[in-house]
Amino acid sequence: MAKRDFYEVLGVSKGASADEIKKAYRKKAKELHPDRNKDNPEAEAQFKEANEAYEILKDAEKKAAYDRFGHQAFEGGMGGGPRGSHPGQGDFASAFSDVFDDLFGDFMGGRGGGGRQRAARGADLRYNLRVSLEDAFSGIQKTINVPTSVQCDSCDGSGAEGGAEPTTCPTCSGMGKVRAQQGFFTVERTCPTCSGLGQIIKNPCKSCGGQGRVEKDRALSVNIPAGVETGTRIRLAGEGEAGMRGGPSGDLYIFIEVAPHKIFERDGPNLYCRVPVSMASAALGGDIEVPTIDGGRSRVKIPAGSQSGRQMRLRGKGMPALRGAGTGDMMIELAVETPVNLTSRQKELLREFEDLSEENNPESSSFFKSVKNFWDSMKG
Ligand SMILES: [Zn+2]
Ligand SMILES: [Zn+2]
Repeated sequence: MAKRDFYEVLGVSKGASADEIKKAYRKKAKELHPDRNKDNPEAEAQFKEANEAYEILKDAEKKAAYDRFGHQAFEGGMGGGPRGSHPGQGDFASAFSDVFDDLFGDFMGGRGGGGRQRAARGADLRYNLRVSLEDAFSGIQKTINVPTSVQCDSCDGSGAEGGAEPTTCPTCSGMGKVRAQQGFFTVERTCPTCSGLGQIIKNPCKSCGGQGRVEKDRALSVNIPAGVETGTRIRLAGEGEAGMRGGPSGDLYIFIEVAPHKIFERDGPNLYCRVPVSMASAALGGDIEVPTIDGGRSRVKIPAGSQSGRQMRLRGKGMPALRGAGTGDMMIELAVETPVNLTSRQKELLREFEDLSEENNPESSSFFKSVKNFWDSMKG
């Protein structure tokens, strides 16, 4: 069957501008649309013809090829056509949806995202990864096993046995959606035959059942940068679920959770460490050794007469900020420990000590003086 000239199909002259071609096509598409031409195979054929013509003529590169070589430009697969172009079905479907959006977008309630795609993009995946504070401090390379679907090797992701090309779905003519009249409304549904892909596969690949992808655990090496916190997300582009039938893969998001630490508590870039000291050390003062997150130790001087809650700052001993924006501090907080399980000898010494300690507890003295004043004032 001889193919009609694309310009003739759209009813425009060869010298028509892109705008004129678009206008002519819209007019034809409205006229010939299947919703308006129920059970009219001739209109349907013309509709497809118009779509095919527009598909070529709207694209400057394809149009130039057509003007030079005519239909031959797109015959015989990859042969004479412009580099990498697949005429017909594939892109043809997207031309369809452009028009649908124009024609129906308003009263279909704004179908977000525009037209459907021939090959569905794979889903984004989330992977929760718990790391230790030490790892968050230094950064680490981790290997994770992600259960995901990957492109099927047997069919190279096409979903067809032996690499055969999928064909346009006869139920929806490649649109991926079917329309039905319900009362006053036109209801649009995902096509049941092709599940919205617009194409069907006559001989589905046996390994993947025609999906073009198979379930598999994938080992991925992930670089966790120093400074990550709970809630930090690392995006690995294209490492998510494989697309349907060769569609693009989704992304993989690694959600970091930093495990609580026995010794250090983190607040952003700063670390807190509560250090118990004996009552005598706090009173007499002295040096103590405290751990640092890098596994080292720092000597800290405790001034004589330190109280519980006293804080000391170790500059630059905290966590690194993500992307090298400085380093936090480590805060030491002293907790004076009251001795327990005293022997009778210790009790005796403490009592003796207490008897000699009238001037050594200024805070207590001042507190009880205030209390006495308070009671006196209440007596009126
Ligand atoms: Zn279909
Ligand atoms: Zn397969």
